[in-house]
Amino acid sequence: MTQETRSFQAEVSRLLDIVAHSLYSQKEIFLRELISNASDACDRLRYAALTEPALAEGDTSYRVVLTPDKSARTLTVADNGIGMNREELIENLGTIARSGTAAFVSQLSGDARKDMSLIGQFGVGFYSAFMVAERVEVKSRKAGDSEGWRWVSDGKGEFTIEPLPEAARGATIVVHLRDDEKEYLEASRLRRIVSTYSDHIGLPIVLRDDGKEETINTASALWTRQKSEITEEQYKEFYHHVGHSFDDPWLTLHARAEGVLEYTSLLFVPSAKPFDLFDPERKSRVKLYVRRVFITDEGTNLLPAYLRFLRGVVDSEDLPLNISREMLQSNPMVVRIRQQLTKRTLTEFGKKANEAPEEYIKFWDNFGAVLKEGLYEDREHREELLALTRFRSTARDGLVSLDEYVAEMKPGQEAIYTITGDSLDVIKRSPQLEGFRARGVEVLLMTDPIDEFWVPAIGSYKDKPFKSATRGGVDLDKITPPEDRKDEKLEPPAKLASLIAIFKLALGDAVKDVRSSDRLTDSAVCLVADEGDMDMHFERLLKQHRQLDTMSKRILEINPRHKLIERLAATVGEAGASDQLSEFAWLLLDQARIIEGEQLPDAAAFARRLSSVLERGLSAGA
Ligand code: ADP
Ligand code: MG
Repeated sequence: MTQETRSFQAEVSRLLDIVAHSLYSQKEIFLRELISNASDACDRLRYAALTEPALAEGDTSYRVVLTPDKSARTLTVADNGIGMNREELIENLGTIARSGTAAFVSQLSGDARKDMSLIGQFGVGFYSAFMVAERVEVKSRKAGDSEGWRWVSDGKGEFTIEPLPEAARGATIVVHLRDDEKEYLEASRLRRIVSTYSDHIGLPIVLRDDGKEETINTASALWTRQKSEITEEQYKEFYHHVGHSFDDPWLTLHARAEGVLEYTSLLFVPSAKPFDLFDPERKSRVKLYVRRVFITDEGTNLLPAYLRFLRGVVDSEDLPLNISREMLQSNPMVVRIRQQLTKRTLTEFGKKANEAPEEYIKFWDNFGAVLKEGLYEDREHREELLALTRFRSTARDGLVSLDEYVAEMKPGQEAIYTITGDSLDVIKRSPQLEGFRARGVEVLLMTDPIDEFWVPAIGSYKDKPFKSATRGGVDLDKITPPEDRKDEKLEPPAKLASLIAIFKLALGDAVKDVRSSDRLTDSAVCLVADEGDMDMHFERLLKQHRQLDTMSKRILEINPRHKLIERLAATVGEAGASDQLSEFAWLLLDQARIIEGEQLPDAAAFARRLSSVLERGLSAGA
């Protein structure tokens, strides 16, 4: 096979275009990315060689070698890791396989400045080499293969690939530096970059300069070092490497367990949401090592799914090196480690919640929705999780915990009131909340789909049942009436009962019931679900996902104090009123549906009725 020219995937071309014209000030991070890849590749071969020693070809001193060549103006980053075959070179270096990078590309705006700042946030891995290179050459032979390949590109839409029989095992990246990037040929510059970004790498990073070889990093895995010897910067750089992330860690948890089980854990909570957070697979990305040997980062079972946002490593002294992924699922040591890590992590979150509530808000906004999955699926840690859970509410700007909520319940209030919906802005304006506001009763605002599951699963907190504010059976009259209504002795409008009867007759099957309600203050009407029925928002959610064919009927609640209702009630019994009232019944029902965000079954009829009422209003005024 001879040389073949191929095009980059369109997204990669776009990305490379930005990278090449990058004014990004920290171009030096390209070296961190290449070293990080080299280290990953060595980790993977070390693991593969456990079961197939021949793969290592007798060379198990894994390392990364940096060779600057001033006359050729190249910087070479070579590893003796697992390498790539032809298909892998094409796939890994020609398409966007990683979800983080895919998300990056989808956010590109075409505006150079904005896109540049994104590079800092996301990182572009291998492609960052094109920030300093006019050409990048990758020579690679996959462990176990007899022949290698040469991949070359100037980062302008195409790359070539051809056989390279004599390639060394692993990957050698030759960065042909642009004329104005010669600084990366200076040994002192390279030393500084490595000590800033790559000191934590567990393998030797060797600088080969002027025929001399020198290891320029500490070359011991970061987590094996004493906490007191590790700087915050080093933790951060390790997090970038291990998490393939580019934000700063929000929390760093480094601990050594000794006793029956011996292991070290170094876990990070990101400060930004990872892109795969809501992947249906809910995979944890924490890496499992056994006595410093990387085993896997897939299906490790080291943390429950609701802690999948954690990044980092767990290094066990006790597990067998040849543990398979299948064995991980049921291994009793893994189960114990998982229990301990879960407990410890939740305890640390609790400390943050108490000691740094402002910072905790950021954490909660990022990961609260994920953590709440645990309320539903992890009975063992339910209490701890409930203590960590926070809410937005109708009564305050910040977040509120369940304990705070319960402590401030009104006299006569027996339930924890909640309302669910898609967005805070929308549910905050729900008419169903008016009566609660008027009485100063706090309602918890819930906008995460998981809320529809854990709330019913738990049912109550400290003997106070959760109750939806948009459901029948809410008895607000038991709770102190609002100040301005204390002395009011409201006689229901004399004809209210008749009005309700006319409405019921007019609406027939379209509603389950029509009732007077103390839930409203400003609005004339609202819809609620019957006490035993499903929550309205949840029902809509299920319908959207085609999990439900028919919706249950709503109850139309009307506000007896509202001017419109009073006026309508007053017309009961007048000549010709009944037709007009049934028209109003439909208009009010449709209005309530619109506010609720529900589809009008007959929008044309709504428009016709509205026009006729408006027209009559105009002619009455004329
Ligand atoms: P990431 O490291 O986050 O996956 P990169 O863009 O840095 O993304 O690398 C893309 C892929 O190319 C890697 O996932 C890996 O499969 C492959 N790769 C890159 N460098 C090497 C290397 N030195 N040896 C083997 N494979 C590599
Ligand atoms: Mg990488």
